[in-house]
Amino acid sequence: MKLIFFGPPGAGKGTQAAMLSEALGIPTVSTGNMIREEIAAGTELGLKAQQAINAGELLADEIVIGMIKTRLAKPDCAGGFILDGFPRTVAQAEGLCGMGIDVDKVIDIVVPDEALVRRLGGRRVCLKCGATYHLENNPSPAGDRCGRCGEPLSVRKDDSEAVIRSRLEVFHMQTEPLEAYYREKGILFSVDGDSDIGSIAEEIARIVRD
Ligand code: ADP
Ligand code: ADP
Ligand code: ZN
Repeated sequence: MKLIFFGPPGAGKGTQAAMLSEALGIPTVSTGNMIREEIAAGTELGLKAQQAINAGELLADEIVIGMIKTRLAKPDCAGGFILDGFPRTVAQAEGLCGMGIDVDKVIDIVVPDEALVRRLGGRRVCLKCGATYHLENNPSPAGDRCGRCGEPLSVRKDDSEAVIRSRLEVFHMQTEPLEAYYREKGILFSVDGDSDIGSIAEEIARIVRD
């Protein structure tokens, strides 16, 4: 099963992908996480990426397409995968197609902008294990520490009000056109992402099963 989780920043792609990954036993491939790992490791790519990510701008298509190509060639992706945060432009979708990868379904998680601002503003992440929480909607059972590994939780630098607004603008300008691209291919499935985490997960599981 080759899936794409599509939606604006804060739609719940990461939250839902983590649950479905576990249920299906396939990896989640998140370009955002891969880029943050490069930054943390201080690689050349990481240094170049830092400015763009902190400003909420997209990295160049050829860079992320290259990262994805290398990642999807690894053996753990042979039985399928969930793409979270890629593709984000039509050029990236064409790059994926050019790798000979046939995506089965695109899950389009729909959430209004104002809810996204509230979600991203309260997002807390674990830099060690990648778990994601929300101060009110999905608090860590361990308070300000990660419920899974105990690490103190962090606020992403790009989850500040001003950067959130520019990320939403980038989404509407550069990423949203992909919706029509996949709808034309007949593989786009939209879900109402403005409800509780459990019912969205059920809806996604149903789409994947059918
Ligand atoms: P979100 O939680 O907002 O969906 P991600 O963690 O997926 O954010 O991405 C964070 C940042 O990483 C983006 O704002 C962008 O700078 C960069 N990034 C992630 N994926 C891509 C991509 N496919 N193309 C270009 N830039 C990307
Ligand atoms: P994305 O990967 O699409 O950027 P995340 O999965 O990181 O989104 O979710 C963004 C924030 O919203 C996180 O703080 C997460 O805990 C919270 N969240 C996720 N799904 C929901 C939901 N259905 N209702 C309320 N908050 C949610
Ligand atoms: Zn953790």
